[in-house]
Amino acid sequence: MARRQLQPCGTPAAYRRHLYHGEEPCQQCRDAHNDRTREHGGIRIRNRARQRAYIRLASIYTEAFEVMLEEEYAKALAEEETNGGDA
Ligand SMILES: [Zn+2]
Repeated sequence: MARRQLQPCGTPAAYRRHLYHGEEPCQQCRDAHNDRTREHGGIRIRNRARQRAYIRLASIYTEAFEVMLEEEYAKALAEEETNGGDA
């Protein structure tokens, strides 16, 4: 593609284009931007919750967790030796 296709209004790219040109983003673009922001915030918050759930899980199943941790540690060490050497 020789010429870049401009994203139409109602996309995050068009929202940034408005700002870049010093324009007030139109409603369609604002909506697209808000949706995208919410989406990303949602993922970030979900990941934070997942992280906390892992920690709680580990505190309940301490022994199982310790065993898994040792197994994964051994695996990671082995990976490091096979891949990491010349990387
Ligand atoms: Zn627009």
